Amino acid sequence: MKIGFIGLGNMGGPMAANLAAAGHDVTGFDMAKVTVEGVTLAASGAEAAKDADVVITMLPNGQILRAVADEIIPAMQAGAAFVDCSTVDVDSARAVAEKASAAGLLPVDAPVSGGIGGAAGGTLTFMAGGSADAFEKAKPLFDIMGQKAVHCGDAGAGQAAKICNNMILGVTMIATCEAFALADKLGLDRQKMFDVVSTSSGYSWTMNAYCPAPGVGPQSPADNDYKPGFAAELMLKDLRLSQQAAGSADADTPMGQLAEALYAHFVENEGGLGMDFSAMLPRFEKRSRD
Ligand code: NAD
Repeated sequence: MKIGFIGLGNMGGPMAANLAAAGHDVTGFDMAKVTVEGVTLAASGAEAAKDADVVITMLPNGQILRAVADEIIPAMQAGAAFVDCSTVDVDSARAVAEKASAAGLLPVDAPVSGGIGGAAGGTLTFMAGGSADAFEKAKPLFDIMGQKAVHCGDAGAGQAAKICNNMILGVTMIATCEAFALADKLGLDRQKMFDVVSTSSGYSWTMNAYCPAPGVGPQSPADNDYKPGFAAELMLKDLRLSQQAAGSADADTPMGQLAEALYAHFVENEGGLGMDFSAMLPRFEKRSRD
């Protein structure tokens, strides 16, 4: 397939390289000067998009996605798929899909989970929103860049799934960290805490697979001085998107709201910037009740 790839950063670069390595003809564009193995660079987004069967975008936010979409949609050929893999707000995903459909394109919002390691290793999970035809057209490419692709529903459903998942993740990480900090103050050994909770009703992915306590449970960023991993500021971005969506949809999400406030404070005032999101544990350790 002829693929246009716009946004060749930490995620987009290795994803584009994997598509090229699988034999696809990939033309890329990024505002920053980058080189990606096997990818031909274009002078603009429109140039990368113009003859492509599929255009993939991997951009920082919804505002940038909307601007790039306005530039590339008129340049794309009818029937081509427009696959946005960025994590953006649901409203931007739906607005871009509407414009793309009106121009005779096949839009898919397909945010990913799996991080930089998943992008490099081709093991991402894609959660996709769009028509069945659009999903089918993009699916062979998801299979190269990832290990699983779920068609979640119509336009915006991929972004909805992503932010709901990450809202659970943020809330659960905070709950796990505050419980460890309480256990410490009650004199409970952390290993015993792990042994009980990981096999009891308090178990979760954050406890069992990504334990925030160093030296306890499987290897995780806690064992590497809380170097990310999944950075606290990226968790904050996703929590903000969840609260923006909850506002538009009039959904009551008090735990998500509190998680956003705690991560905002952590990132902006408490040294959390650049730390893994599990560094909430040392943050709680240092605190008293008020
Ligand atoms: P990044 O900042 O490394 O890459 C974004 C790239 O987009 C940059 O290279 C930038 O130069 C380019 N760009 C910005 N504006 C542009 C424009 N107008 N035209 C062309 N290129 C432009 O970010 P990333 O870590 O690759 O993340 C990309 C997206 O993936 C984000 O939406 C992020 O939330 C999501 N995501 C990231 C991770 C992760 O672990 N990094 C995990 C899951 C999802």
